[in-house]
Amino acid sequence: ELIQETFAHLKEIEPEIDSFITLNEEKALEMARAIDEKGVSEENILAGLPIGIKDNIVTKDLLTTAASKMLYNFEPIYDATVMEKVHQSNMIPVGKLNMDEFAMGGSTENSYFKTTKNAWDTSKVPGGSSGGSAAAVASGQIPLALGTDTGGSIRQPAAFNGIVGMKPTYGRVSRFGLIAFGSSLDQIGPLTRTVKDNALALNAISGYDAKDGTSSGQAVPDFTNNLEKSMEGMKIALPKEYLDKGVDDEIKDAVLKAADTFRSLGATVEEVSLPHSKYGVAAYYIIASSEASSNLQRFDGIRYGYRSENVASLEDVYVNSRSEGFGDEVKRRIMLGTFSLSAGYFDAFFKKAAQVRTLIRQDFKKVFADYDLIIGPTTPTVAFGLGEEIDDPVTMYTNDVLTIPVNLAGLPGMSLPCGFSNNLPIGLQLIGDRFAEETMYQAAYSFE
Ligand code: GLN
Repeated sequence: ELIQETFAHLKEIEPEIDSFITLNEEKALEMARAIDEKGVSEENILAGLPIGIKDNIVTKDLLTTAASKMLYNFEPIYDATVMEKVHQSNMIPVGKLNMDEFAMGGSTENSYFKTTKNAWDTSKVPGGSSGGSAAAVASGQIPLALGTDTGGSIRQPAAFNGIVGMKPTYGRVSRFGLIAFGSSLDQIGPLTRTVKDNALALNAISGYDAKDGTSSGQAVPDFTNNLEKSMEGMKIALPKEYLDKGVDDEIKDAVLKAADTFRSLGATVEEVSLPHSKYGVAAYYIIASSEASSNLQRFDGIRYGYRSENVASLEDVYVNSRSEGFGDEVKRRIMLGTFSLSAGYFDAFFKKAAQVRTLIRQDFKKVFADYDLIIGPTTPTVAFGLGEEIDDPVTMYTNDVLTIPVNLAGLPGMSLPCGFSNNLPIGLQLIGDRFAEETMYQAAYSFE
């Protein structure tokens, strides 16, 4: 009944929001029936829960497009590790969610299929690249979705839609079966309406996986352990660069108010500095694009998805399939990345960016020697209008100025709602030390 109702409700809301690329109705109902028949133990708290999956996570026998023409007909023959975990916990995947093509973008306007709308105001973008995930959860279609975050793609859309989004520590969640964008940055994580749901979902998808070479063996605690724990004595840092010019005044005010709330709960909040964070965007677009240019070589018109019909030679198959199959933003990244890695430019670009990455990581390390948590805004502005930034890639890229350093350092980052500006939600970002998600959930729950 829950799954039937979910689809009925979803179909009422979806035409306005456009968050799904593919619905999985028949199989979802079959799974629900199977759960009803066999029953589940009480510990299996997520059993029967509808979940939406970002369309760059491969799902066996279910269309997985990464929102690209290149993969318009791709039905994977295996499940991503997170999907195996979704099935183990008896959650029910109701469909695949819209996104920017190959997760490149910050507004979900780079999808080949459709443009998702913000759940609060359909003239605004939902953010991206996990815009479908965030808008589907925020509009009440589903309680939970998986997204991915390479430079902010879980946190920024969570902020724009007024929900909770967690990018776990790099290595916490297996990337096996995630269509790779920037492999040293990508992480899968949950988007939910409440902090507790988020912690429960992360419990379900975390853990070591031999199929992902960068998966961590770090023990996975129950992320709900500390939810009720007092904030007394927690040391919170507020980086001054995160309240710099460029951040809207109403967002600054909301973050300062959040700092006061944490103080009133018994925490201390002090100003710190992350001096190299201002170089994050520049370093990120070199590193992420370089990795993307390498990862996207596999889309050759032969192994997967789209193949051009307009060919007279083997080279035409490669060139025309890629020219016709990839959208403009993806091509921009491939060119930028290929250039940065090429002989003669490697030292000036890729190597420099890697060095800056180390400095950014060290900035955070210094702060975490003295503090338990960092807070700041998730984004410099609230959701912008559809069509407003799509023709201006550099402006679009600077949206991620506050989230990117977290990926470069491999740290966990989270966004939760902390107020409104012009009737649009504002996101508060919590940044934790490596594998300190429990502390982040504790603070988030006390704030909520
Ligand atoms: N907006 C950023 C980009 O376009 C981040 C994307 C992401 O996290 N997947 O690269």
